[in-house]
Amino acid sequence: MDADIIIVGGGPAGLSLAKSLSGRQLQIVLIEQQALAQLEAPGFDGREIALTQHSAALMKELGLWDLIAPQAIAPLRDAKVMDGPALFSMVIGHELGSRPELGWLVSNHLIRQAAFQAVQQAIQAHQDITLITGEKVTEVRADADDAGVTLGDGRTLRARLVIAADSRFSTTRRAMGISAQMHDFGKNMLVCCMTHDKPHDFAAWEWFGYGQTLALLPMNPDPLTQAHRASVVITLSSREIERLVQLDEAAFNLEVAQRFSQRLGGMRLVSTRHSYPLVSVFPDRLVATRFACAGDAAVGMHPVTAHGFNFGLLSVEGLTREISLAQSAGTDIGAPAVLRRYERGQKRATLPLYWMTRLVIEIYTRDSTPAKLVRAALLRLSDRMVPLKKSIALSLSGM
Ligand SMILES: Cc1cc2nc3c(=O)[nH]c(=O)nc-3n(C[C@H](O)[C@H](O)[C@H](O)COP(=O)(O)OP(=O)(O)OC[C@H]3O[C@@H](n4cnc5c(N)ncnc54)[C@H](O)[C@@H]3O)c2cc1C
Repeated sequence: MDADIIIVGGGPAGLSLAKSLSGRQLQIVLIEQQALAQLEAPGFDGREIALTQHSAALMKELGLWDLIAPQAIAPLRDAKVMDGPALFSMVIGHELGSRPELGWLVSNHLIRQAAFQAVQQAIQAHQDITLITGEKVTEVRADADDAGVTLGDGRTLRARLVIAADSRFSTTRRAMGISAQMHDFGKNMLVCCMTHDKPHDFAAWEWFGYGQTLALLPMNPDPLTQAHRASVVITLSSREIERLVQLDEAAFNLEVAQRFSQRLGGMRLVSTRHSYPLVSVFPDRLVATRFACAGDAAVGMHPVTAHGFNFGLLSVEGLTREISLAQSAGTDIGAPAVLRRYERGQKRATLPLYWMTRLVIEIYTRDSTPAKLVRAALLRLSDRMVPLKKSIALSLSGM
């Protein structure tokens, strides 16, 4: 046996899982197709990740939080949901929870960098993680005795358990015969950082406009100019997003300020622009023989409810708990009962919000006249339902 556990994928979930499993008398191999240099210094990818309080606590436990500069962590005080051109917004205020903020915002590349550094620290402390970078897993197989992977260079590795953390389009999950419900929303998301004239007061916006969906994620002021700064998210057809990505900067600034109906005053691009296709994925099973899915491979969320990586961290927590329990009981860490317990917990935690997100998008992207009336009425009704708002605040904070 080459290892106890092979993790496929060194994204934020795979790296966090390796760190979480380290120091538990397990030999771990993590395989990532990107080169080492890209893991050491990941480039800005436009994503600003909204983290629940529970995720922040897990990241502290894993030692990731302290590896992120405090000025790169912004508080998320409130969340506002808006519909169409109306000025009305449903506000999910932090006072509905028990903390001065609902959660936190951190750039995805900084989370990835912190997770990589935490793995390096774990390697130094325990020598129990082997990192293989610049190599793709091309095959995976498993039977009752062991599981194994084949790398692009032809090497084969065997372990007691293989964990797929290789994205929502996981090829290892597919190779293990696990089918998945995939929903292509037929749209793309453009994400970038912009400064703006009017303050955001550390509130996130989700604005279901007519013919477009906009979001604003508050960031700390621009370190150079101290201007108000936010991550801007625009959802449109892929053709429209491609046009916006190519637009010269001055025209882009004008168009985005206009799309936001000047509610933030003038806006200025201060980063590169990135586009992501919107496809959500829920696998029919999260485990198979000596095989488990984690991170986006276990649920690929639509970003509107900002839960993808938060769920990824829950998968890290769930797998670590079940593997550790089996390990301390002296039983097989890849046994079907161990994996089934993980699957049950993870599905319970993620499936309701997965479908709720799909439903919200289904309702709030319809632009017919009756749909517009229903959308507006539903938002005003929800605003009066304090228990509902409290449960949304709880789901945003993850407590
Ligand atoms: C625009 C946008 C906004 C988002 N906002 C939020 C938010 O506010 N809050 C939130 O919680 N989440 C958010 N998310 C989701 C979050 O970014 C993802 O959940 C998270 O990045 C997934 O991490 P992962 O490690 O599971 O997968 P990935 O980041 O996809 O990493 C997978 C890794 O596996 C590697 N890999 C793939 N195949 C192989 C192979 N065969 N062999 C070896 N390596 C392989 C890849 O190179 C990659 O490094 C957002 C996503 C988007 C697109």
